[in-house]
Amino acid sequence: MELPKQGTDWQTLKTQMEERSSHDVKWRDGKTAVYVFNAGPEVAKVQKEAYAMFMSENGLGPLAFPSLKQMEDEVIGMGLSLLHGPAGAAGNITSGGTDSITMAIKAARDFARAERGLSGQGNIVAPYSAHPAFDKAAMMMDLQIRRVPCRELLADPAAMENAIDDNTLMLVGSAPCFPYGLMDPIAALGEVAERKGVWLHVDACVGGYLAPFVRMNGSDIAPFDFEIPAVRSMSADLHKYGYCAKGASTVLFRSEALREHMMFHCSDWPGGKMTTPTLAGTRPGGAIAAAWAVMNFLGEAGYRAKQKLVTDTRERIEAGAQSLGFEIMGRPQLGLMAFGHPEVDPIAVWAKLYERGWFTGVTTEPRGLHLMLSPFHAEVADIYLADLQWALNAARKDSAESRAAPRYS
Ligand SMILES: *Cc1c(COP(=O)(O)O)cnc(C)c1O
Repeated sequence: MELPKQGTDWQTLKTQMEERSSHDVKWRDGKTAVYVFNAGPEVAKVQKEAYAMFMSENGLGPLAFPSLKQMEDEVIGMGLSLLHGPAGAAGNITSGGTDSITMAIKAARDFARAERGLSGQGNIVAPYSAHPAFDKAAMMMDLQIRRVPCRELLADPAAMENAIDDNTLMLVGSAPCFPYGLMDPIAALGEVAERKGVWLHVDACVGGYLAPFVRMNGSDIAPFDFEIPAVRSMSADLHKYGYCAKGASTVLFRSEALREHMMFHCSDWPGGKMTTPTLAGTRPGGAIAAAWAVMNFLGEAGYRAKQKLVTDTRERIEAGAQSLGFEIMGRPQLGLMAFGHPEVDPIAVWAKLYERGWFTGVTTEPRGLHLMLSPFHAEVADIYLADLQWALNAARKDSAESRAAPRYS
């Protein structure tokens, strides 16, 4: 494909784009439980209009765009207040969870170099269930990542303690981890971090803007945030259960002094002093503005109502799946869940569900079906359970037939 010599009118292009999107997953029907968070048309309208209003503005220039700086500061303030940030805590909006995790690691590394005299290759000790963003960041910064096997699908504090050495610059816990949707024992990891004098990062990318409201709704969520004194940084994505437009996450620090280790300052070039907090140079004003608008549009009451739909739907699907003989992995409390089956391969069930238009996730160790639920799934949970029953029977029939077939090899 080459750049066309002449331009094409927008109506024609728009029609072409609509045609192309018709081959994508039908997430608006609720049959997708990965990649997209659907909080309904009212939230979508706020996201879109707020994004468009600030689409050309650039978060790189806080002096030029004090509006964006103020919105970013207010979003960070709201995030910190939900996650027990103490007085003096600080943070920034980033482009996503990977960006937040990368910047928290950069801060922890530079902190270890400055405060502890770390000189060799640093390492990060993380549970096996931690997100690959830690590996990506470690690869970019030439750090070693030590993934420690889980215990009953959760981070194992004793085994992780054994993996720490003088070059460990960060200990990681997830709240919750993506594969199973389970909250790691952050308080126990905090004790390890304190004993060893290591930076504890809580990856709340998928739970940071969900767990506080689930707790307000009455669930017994154990402490997982800055309430634990050893937690020095957190990642929490606005574009997941914060229901903000994509391209928005938060990276949060216990203090401004810790955040300073994330900052990049450069004046050794002819363009004047450049200061950026996160990986990006140009920062999309739309993503910042949409985050500010959605948070203020929903408020605590709006989030509590949306998050109740998510957890109620998860409970309905848990009960329905269990009645079909599926086994839920651990005790999920938020919007993610994974479940296996003692007789039928869940990935064969996944393939059958795909035939019926469902696009959902899987786990590989152990093998399971994986769901990341949105408020909109409340409307399709019964259809999912009916299709799950059909898919289970179809997969069971296939595997019985393949066992009965003669073997030639
Ligand atoms: C989604 C996710 C990430 C990465 O976030 P991106 O926005 O996709 O870069 C990291 N950790 C967890 C637990 C996540 O669920």
